[in-house]
Amino acid sequence: MFEQGTKILMADGQARPIQHITPNSMVLCADGTADRVTSISKDEQMTYQILQKTKHRANEGEAGRTDPLRKQIYHRLGFKCTVAHMLPLRTSAKPTLENSFKRNNYKVKWKTMEEQVTPDGRIINLPKTHHKDFPMTPEGEMLARAFMAQKEGQHGLYLEFSIQVRDLDLLEAHIRVNSFLRFGPILTGRGVLSEFLTGQKHLITPYVLDMAWLLGLWLGDGTTKEPEISVDSFDTELMKGLTERCRAWGLYPTYKDEQVPLRAKHTRLYFGEKADGNRRNRNLRKENPFWNVVLNLKFKRDLDGEKQVPSFMWSEDIQIREAFLAGLIDSDGYVVKRNEGPDAYKVSIQTIYPSIMNGIVHVSRSLGIATTVTTRSARTETIEGRKVNCHFTYDCHIAGRSPLQNVLSYCRSGHKRRPAPDKVKRDPIYFGFSEEKCGQQVVYGITTESGKNIVLENKLTVHACGEHCIKEQPKFTTTKSLKHCIACPRKGVRYFYKDWSGNHRICGRCYGRYKFSGYRCLNCKYVPEAREIKKAKLRGEELGVSPDGTTVSGLICGRCKGILKYDEIRGPRKGHSIIVS
Ligand SMILES: [Zn+2]
Ligand SMILES: [Zn+2]
Ligand SMILES: [Zn+2]
Repeated sequence: MFEQGTKILMADGQARPIQHITPNSMVLCADGTADRVTSISKDEQMTYQILQKTKHRANEGEAGRTDPLRKQIYHRLGFKCTVAHMLPLRTSAKPTLENSFKRNNYKVKWKTMEEQVTPDGRIINLPKTHHKDFPMTPEGEMLARAFMAQKEGQHGLYLEFSIQVRDLDLLEAHIRVNSFLRFGPILTGRGVLSEFLTGQKHLITPYVLDMAWLLGLWLGDGTTKEPEISVDSFDTELMKGLTERCRAWGLYPTYKDEQVPLRAKHTRLYFGEKADGNRRNRNLRKENPFWNVVLNLKFKRDLDGEKQVPSFMWSEDIQIREAFLAGLIDSDGYVVKRNEGPDAYKVSIQTIYPSIMNGIVHVSRSLGIATTVTTRSARTETIEGRKVNCHFTYDCHIAGRSPLQNVLSYCRSGHKRRPAPDKVKRDPIYFGFSEEKCGQQVVYGITTESGKNIVLENKLTVHACGEHCIKEQPKFTTTKSLKHCIACPRKGVRYFYKDWSGNHRICGRCYGRYKFSGYRCLNCKYVPEAREIKKAKLRGEELGVSPDGTTVSGLICGRCKGILKYDEIRGPRKGHSIIVS
């Protein structure tokens, strides 16, 4: 069962809080079909928070401390459910070959699904690792490789399995960290934009796509009060694209050369016969088809006239979403090719508007593209010799393969456009997650006719409820060996390293910094980053008191003003081995 307030995607593409769903309404299934809700039940139960693991460290470093806006993590995937709710997971089953020099043999490891008895006597199916040894000889290696190929043929590359939250502890530690939840692309759409423009839902003509692209471009670089977009005049391809795509709607992009020549031209989208001809024949806001869409479909917020991505855009027809995202990328995006294959790209889009950030996250995830958000505090920067005040910014990172390349093929900017991929593969995106106890909550269960997996508003694939999770269930195991890093708030079961006291209590990230610099705080145990050490060195050494009461001199910790200790056996000067107690 899910916590009250969990939003479920309905068959019509709209999201609804679970408590407002009624029997016989239709929900969207993960495979794109619709399914009838057979019952909704309510209870009060212990809940667990299932949360995506990301590499972003929102609460670490000085950023989170100095800027309260940066303490929040935006759009981390997750949901809250009860202990007996099933999670659909996948783990890699590719056999591996290890060299065991100590025992002078090759070890092949593979995984299969095996029955296991839980502490309360249920029999469940879980992935289990097996291994077989081969002698460390050329023949042994050949046999080992043949054996691997045979196992791979038998069991495939992945194991799909379902497991209740309370049974996660029964998984082997390395299978637990390599078990992934998924979110999937949404292939259906609501057809709101095409209905507004053509009177017919899902009628996707090139003109409708042009409009979707224009909307994205305006949201990125447009002026709130009129149809005006600032366009980089050096980007001739973009200017050409804008003119072409506007023409279809009788729009004429025009800009005046200002006294101070700036690269960015404020380009107005006039509606009328000729933009530069008779002034009486053109309109800026009146009858302007583009401005009609902006106002009527609420791309401007009623409340304060601010730009926004209306929520219907999250669940528009798939080509509309692509063209719209391409517009946003053409205005504010930065495209990088990744080395992980011919179709791997990374795009970052910066925006100061939370609603646009939300829109980017929802639209790109709905296309099957992984998206995360980082933030930057307000600051002053020098751009081309001028001091510029920058707002608090959301940095949306979009990384994907053919689905993203397909979006880029719709871009018009010279350095952002890419050729269309031969084939667009829309596969689910898998991610690791943690689970954490959350306390007693009002929860709702949802059952459907077919029992197929359903989809949450954040595009996450989840199981509908079954018999097993309607009543509160006991959880006998405690999450095992959850370690806390002594230098940061991170916790986990694996990848802890030897710290300065000789215990394995420091996380991989802090360990890396410590090994590199050798600095650690005597007071708060924080391991400073390189730039923090640089800052501390500028400030110089000072006298302070260590926690055991002795007076020490050293650099100052940027976090707690304690003294930083430098352990010389660590750090870049490892050659000089001076033993420090
Ligand atoms: Zn359930
Ligand atoms: Zn740490
Ligand atoms: Zn400190």
